[in-house]
Amino acid sequence: MSKMDISSILQGGYAHPLSRKWQAKRQLTKAMFMYPIFITDDADASVEIATLPGQRRWGVNKLEGFLRPLVEKGLESVILFGVPLTCIKDERGTPADDVNGPVIQAIKKLRSLFPSLYIATDVCLCEYTDHGHCGVLHADGTINTEPSVDRIAEVAVNYARAGAHCVAPSDMMDGRIKAIKRGLIDAGFGNKVTLMSYSAKFASALYGPFRDAAGSAPSFGDRKCYQLPPTAKGLARRAIQRDATEGADIIMVKPSLPYLDIIADAAELTPDHPIACYQVSGEFAMIHAGAAAGVYDLKTMAFETTESMVRAGATLILSYFTPDFLEWL
Ligand SMILES: [Zn+2]
Repeated sequence: MSKMDISSILQGGYAHPLSRKWQAKRQLTKAMFMYPIFITDDADASVEIATLPGQRRWGVNKLEGFLRPLVEKGLESVILFGVPLTCIKDERGTPADDVNGPVIQAIKKLRSLFPSLYIATDVCLCEYTDHGHCGVLHADGTINTEPSVDRIAEVAVNYARAGAHCVAPSDMMDGRIKAIKRGLIDAGFGNKVTLMSYSAKFASALYGPFRDAAGSAPSFGDRKCYQLPPTAKGLARRAIQRDATEGADIIMVKPSLPYLDIIADAAELTPDHPIACYQVSGEFAMIHAGAAAGVYDLKTMAFETTESMVRAGATLILSYFTPDFLEWL
């Protein structure tokens, strides 16, 4: 008889590939992936983004050719980011909701091309302000909170009006969730449009490729007075609870991999909300760079990282790997 204690033996439970799958509380599915897309104001653009392997800036006229094959493979949702290159930017981000601007044009185009595709829109001012900050500023360069949230709510409502299923404010201004929710309700979209809050968005070094792609670097200073300090677990928990109270329908954590504890906190604090996380540009670029350097296999690492997010509690993952996962899953 073996001298092994019964309580020592675990391996029998995961000896087979199928029994290994059963160890996950939840599996990755195609529906969990939302694909971030950059829309520029040149309608015929298809421009490679050097720091984001395989990703491009798209013009509205190119969206059908780009997305049709992905929709056929099971793509169910996208999130749109405007990349205006020719508009005249000002201090309040006027071009953000220009009806002829790239985001509103893209919402309308996608609604007509792909009736079943769920269309979320990022809502922020930084791509449209002449100073590149995410809100409206005082003369001394600090955030002027009330006009910021009023303007952000106005933009969100105009995206809803254009046909967005979901508006997702990434600005991190205090009070904007309440202002957007009120605006949606007053405009008749309270029961039609989802409000996904970038609740715990950290001032991360992982946004570099996105800023290249979106041209959204601030012209002075940084965003450390509104994005959260990377050490700030308590603040993140307060922001998550505040946004849930203010009417957020989905809570998001961004970035993902260095903030898995915050994803787990969100799942614990708001267990009745979907929990989203954004696998940001720098995470995606890092995984590609590591694979290219022979550190690991790309697909294996793409699975390991996104599965860690699901394990932490995420139910929705914004990822540039979405087209790959439509093939892999
Ligand atoms: Zn911004």
